[in-house]
Amino acid sequence: MLSQPKSFCSSENSHFETNKPIRVAVVGAGCTGLRIALLFKKLNENGMVQRPVEVVIFEKRSEVGGFLQTRKNSSGLLVESGAQGVLSSRTIFLRALEDIGLQPKDVITPPTQKQHATRYVIAPSGRIAPLSANPFSLWKNRLLSPLQILRLIAELFRSRQNTPPNPDENLYDFFKRHFGRACAENFLLPFATGIWGGGAQKLLARHAFPRLSQIDVAHGSLLRFAFFSFIAKLLKKQTVESSLRYSWPRGLLSFPNGMQTLIEKMSDKLKESASLITIRVNSPVQKIELDTAGKLIINEKEDDSFDSIFWTTSPWSTPNLVFANKDAELEWKNLQNTPTHHLIVVNVSGQRDPATRDGFGVLARRESSGLLGVLFVHSIYPQHVPANLFSYRILLAGDRNPEMISWSDESLKTYCLQQLKTLDLLTNHESVSEIEIVRWPRAIGIADHEHDARMNSLWRLEAHFPELRFAGIYKKGVGVADALLSAEEAFEAWLSVPRPNR
Ligand SMILES: Cc1cc2nc3c(=O)[nH]c(=O)nc-3n(C[C@H](O)[C@H](O)[C@H](O)COP(=O)(O)OP(=O)(O)OC[C@H]3O[C@@H](n4cnc5c(N)ncnc54)[C@H](O)[C@@H]3O)c2cc1C
Repeated sequence: MLSQPKSFCSSENSHFETNKPIRVAVVGAGCTGLRIALLFKKLNENGMVQRPVEVVIFEKRSEVGGFLQTRKNSSGLLVESGAQGVLSSRTIFLRALEDIGLQPKDVITPPTQKQHATRYVIAPSGRIAPLSANPFSLWKNRLLSPLQILRLIAELFRSRQNTPPNPDENLYDFFKRHFGRACAENFLLPFATGIWGGGAQKLLARHAFPRLSQIDVAHGSLLRFAFFSFIAKLLKKQTVESSLRYSWPRGLLSFPNGMQTLIEKMSDKLKESASLITIRVNSPVQKIELDTAGKLIINEKEDDSFDSIFWTTSPWSTPNLVFANKDAELEWKNLQNTPTHHLIVVNVSGQRDPATRDGFGVLARRESSGLLGVLFVHSIYPQHVPANLFSYRILLAGDRNPEMISWSDESLKTYCLQQLKTLDLLTNHESVSEIEIVRWPRAIGIADHEHDARMNSLWRLEAHFPELRFAGIYKKGVGVADALLSAEEAFEAWLSVPRPNR
């Protein structure tokens, strides 16, 4: 929510009575960068500043959107290159939708019937098994033995620890401590591969799931907390989240024309302020320096002199960024050491065949040779896939097989078709008509035990350049909602600084 910075808006402050705009640069036109620009648009329109804010967005590619790209293929189905949807439990996402004029009628959610909602995991047998809360099914599919089921249930009786938590505990150990090793192996590891491309044994629990870490410290048992929260929710009357205008559907949200709608609507909204907000594509930022007047200069161009810069893309997207300041360049180098995962998205589509499966998708266990998961797009978003077709979205690489990023298209195709056959999701290759491949090198950063030290590098960079601000998914959280949250936090921090000399 926008808060009103008193010193910044005070009409008593004569410095703000000139109409010369404040100039802000945003580096990166993904959803983080576009959201920051929209927040400035709102600030200008609300009359919360005496001087207008002019925003220039620099995008190195020829199009905006970053990871959010949707394409219609020649069979007429929509293929997502990056995000497939965002959970509606993230209010920050819904608020961003409302801000660009979107309503519940503009979004789609997966069908709720069990047939479409079932998640599968590759069981030790190598076959896919449904993930279910039914202990008999877990046992039958050799996912958990009766003893391991009892170990899971025992978590309900876990008491609060008297010793302080280990700040370096990784996600895998956190789950193992709560639910036992088998649960960590069969559920947590596959789940983590679906979100971060793996890395559960490196990722810090407090970064990956900050809320769960808080519950662990405050209550001990996660299951008990979930149970009582559920009962409390049932007893309370359901109300629309107070900061929202509409009541939104539950589940994974997307749009009839795919996730790119978010980018298109954000860009359209920005065009309403064309005199103050511009997007420059094909404009990589390669150098940032501070001039003697305290302005930040981009790429040594006199006209590109800014009061503030928001950096919204991962530091490793521009490893050779020049700061004309040795200390700053060392800090930037430190950020390059972030462990990252490459992701490859392969969309396999064709005529539905007897093996085509409905459901949500398949998660892969540790033994997988490269497969991170498969989403059944035809079942999750039937609106995106013509009725006679199937569309499997296969995620590859991550920590399972980083080398895959340099595999040829042919090798990737062969591997995916083999995997679909092994998992009984495809009967014959003849039914496949199109295979699309998108590679995202170093897509996801992993917040390991060095993460705090790397974040210190960001703070030291901000100390060298007080008006250089950082937002984006390399700080905390990797999803679209995290990106939007980081945008709001960076914007709020900008607002909170009084600017008496501007
Ligand atoms: C395969 C995949 C699947 C995903 N699935 C989901 C999902 O289902 N749900 C979900 O919530 N999230 C998902 N995500 C994550 C989600 O896509 C990201 O959280 C979100 O898109 C990040 O947006 P961003 O603006 O922070 O960064 P980006 O989208 O990376 O945008 C950064 C922009 O900066 C530009 N840029 C880089 N360097 C420079 C430079 N030097 N100068 C100028 N411009 C520059 C880039 O070209 C890019 O356009 C997925 C990601 C991937 C890769």
